[in-house]
Amino acid sequence: MTDAARPTLVLVFQRTTLPWVFEAAERAGIDLVLVPRPDEDVPADRLPPAVVELLPLDPEGDRSGALDLLRKRHEARPFQGIATLYDPAVPFVAEAAELLGLPGIGRDTALGAQDKRVMRERLTSAGLHVPRFVRVDGPDTEPGLAAAGELDFPVVVKPAHGYSSLGVTRADTPAALREVVAEVRRVCAAKLADPEAALVVEEYLDGPEFAVESLAYGGRVQVLSIGYKGEPEGPYFEESVYRAPAALPDAVRDAVVREVTAAHAALGISHGPTHTELRLRGGVKPYLLEMGARIGGSGVSHYVASHVTGIDLAAEALRIAVGGAPSFTAVDGLPAPVAAAANYIVPCGGHGRITALHGLDEVRADPRVDHVVQMLFPGDVVRPYPDFTGYPAFVISRHADTAEAEEFHAHLERAIRIDYADTLEEGAS
Ligand code: ADP
Repeated sequence: MTDAARPTLVLVFQRTTLPWVFEAAERAGIDLVLVPRPDEDVPADRLPPAVVELLPLDPEGDRSGALDLLRKRHEARPFQGIATLYDPAVPFVAEAAELLGLPGIGRDTALGAQDKRVMRERLTSAGLHVPRFVRVDGPDTEPGLAAAGELDFPVVVKPAHGYSSLGVTRADTPAALREVVAEVRRVCAAKLADPEAALVVEEYLDGPEFAVESLAYGGRVQVLSIGYKGEPEGPYFEESVYRAPAALPDAVRDAVVREVTAAHAALGISHGPTHTELRLRGGVKPYLLEMGARIGGSGVSHYVASHVTGIDLAAEALRIAVGGAPSFTAVDGLPAPVAAAANYIVPCGGHGRITALHGLDEVRADPRVDHVVQMLFPGDVVRPYPDFTGYPAFVISRHADTAEAEEFHAHLERAIRIDYADTLEEGAS
């Protein structure tokens, strides 16, 4: 039985192995109806404590059927909100919220945050910093390729509806562009079941990368934290580190806060959490790569922002999602950091069948480490890029300051090693 006074929120496609948002729901006094991910078998007797019900839906295969089931569930027993941390589900969640009269960002805004063509166009219209870009849409790529040939090279080719760097590839010359576009389309066919996926080709942004966590509510945007994300150069863009707060000169930090705040307005995101990725061109000028209308990193962004600021990002986001008000006091600019937090993304460092993963047990025992999220195990096969398999593990830790986090990551680079069998076996998958 659920308590009638407690709000209920439908949480779409959150992995139960990632604890942060489930724990936040308990702190916020919110019951969760979990729409399980199709690729996760969620045992009904081992649900996270905040989950009061499982509601299997297939928004990817049968969108209108999924909306219908939600409507029926809402009519029978109303819930107060719907949310997701999974980027491809953001438009579905916005549509469901609109349909049921629940708080949300609306379908059109969700489209701008999810479709990289629309996002680039909206940021350009608002006069924000945007690399020159062209669309490559539809079955005939020739007009797009011709227009893209006029950009300054190198360029980056990416699926308009991509996520997790899927297919994102650098092309160094106009001559190489045709093959890179064909390759990205092959990845889209295999991973997104979309052989004619719309692509964006944009100029390569030279400079270090940062992630910014924010919360929008009541007409204002509170930027919470800025974290360093390394400086991946491609041709494929594997994630490597996330360390916050980033050490930045005041003027650059202020420019990031201004650009991110203005991007919320340009995209119309005035409600709920966002996760922004950007590059500092020339080390100083912020250019958005993307802004997701959700908590980033399946909840890792909550871990980082909450340790850096002391503000409970996930609990605040859930309160907003059920129509409540956040409980923190907003400040102008960035809140003063109270500590540092970090995520080390263990690099594959090769490909083939994994025979051993060294060092993770010692890392688990380190008092600074709160979570080791392991995704790949001995026996799993890592395919070479561009057919990327995934990351072996995240090491999520907290520190007194960013310098200590940086030292810790240098240690992890030496401490963690993956062994592979020499060759990929025939038919391995
Ligand atoms: P996704 O949503 O699939 O993660 P992004 O647009 O965020 O796609 O790109 C993934 C990564 O590729 C970025 O984090 C960045 O490192 C790199 N990247 C993407 N676009 C550019 C660009 N124009 N210049 C430089 N690097 C880029």
